[in-house]
Parts: sequence; C-alpha cells; structure tokens
Amino acid sequence: MFTLPDLPYDYKALEPFIDEETMHFHHDRHHATYVKNLNDVLGGHEDLLNLDINDILRDLEKIPEEIRIKVKNNGGGHANHSLFWEVMTPGGGGEPKGKVLGAIENSFGDFPTFQEKFSAAGVSHFGSGWAWLVIKDGKLDILDTPNQDSPVSERKTPILLLDVWEHAYYLKYKNMRADYIKAWWNTVNWEKVEKLFESGVNKS
Ligand code: MN
Repeated sequence: MFTLPDLPYDYKALEPFIDEETMHFHHDRHHATYVKNLNDVLGGHEDLLNLDINDILRDLEKIPEEIRIKVKNNGGGHANHSLFWEVMTPGGGGEPKGKVLGAIENSFGDFPTFQEKFSAAGVSHFGSGWAWLVIKDGKLDILDTPNQDSPVSERKTPILLLDVWEHAYYLKYKNMRADYIKAWWNTVNWEKVEKLFESGVNKS
C-alpha cells in the first residue's frame, strides 16, 4: 500500500509565498487522491503494491498494459508531489552552495541564468505539468513534462521540480503563473537539492 506522507512542515509554513489554503487542498485533496487511485488500480496486483514508487516509474513497461496509464498518472502524481514537498522549506530560497552550485554553473553559466531558464520552462509549459532540474549522464538539464509524467521514466534523476498545474497556485495567484514561480524561488530547499544531487551523481 502506498501512503500519503505528511508535509515536512506546517501548512502555513511557506507563507506568504504559498498560502495555507493552497497547501491544504494540494496535499490533502490532490496528492491524497493520487495515492488513493494508485492503491485502487494496483488492488489486484499485490506484488506491485510493495515496490518503491520510483522503481515502478523507472520500469513502466513492466506494468501490465491494461493498468499502465493509470499507474503512470497516479504513481507519477504520488512520486512528484512527495518530492515537491521536500524541495521546499520555510526560510528557503537564496542561492545554492556546494557541489550543486558548481554543477549549475558548469551547465548553465551562472545561477541567475539557470534561474531564468528554469522559470521560463515553468512559465511557458502549456497546460498542466512540471518543470524539472535533472541529472542525466552526470550533467544537469532543465526540462518540462506534461501531466504527472516523471523524468524517472526516462532514466533521469530529478533534483528540483516545480508544479505548474493550476491547482498549485490558482487560489492565490489566479492566472498569474509567472508571479507564483517568482515567489516559489523563496521556498527552495537548497540543502535538500544538494543531497539529491550528491546521491544522484553517484548513481548515474
Ligand atoms: Mn500538484
């Protein structure tokens, strides 16, 4: 069985950047629904219910075809949100330090250029989806995915991700996705991103 993880901080901890009501709807309704639907669709497949969700996403072709799309959508929804909560923290933001900063500078020139490119990936993504910073073959790359598609399914390791579904921002920011993204940078948990980078680079 998959379970909904608690937020690693209070619902209002990311204010004023992300409001308490949005966090309640986003975690308690949206994320919870992905978890429930994932368990429902895997109901007749006990062996799959005990796997790590990232292992499922990495090998989607091993999932029976008749449930594969539902597992991709709801499993992605569960994995993506679980990681999204962790890459945010009260008192976050600023610039990264350490190895991840060096890797960002190697791949994008400097931090402001990276930030601009990542923001643009989120702002310009059409419809629901995510913007990502991933490791692929030891290098960093920015990409965006539709719906709940995860780069894990393309054998890439996410170290930062941003939810650009309207449910992530509409209560506070209405249709102003760019304003939400600008505010969201103030929540980024760079220590967590550094940890994801170090473990991801060692794997790839
Ligand atoms: Mn979401």
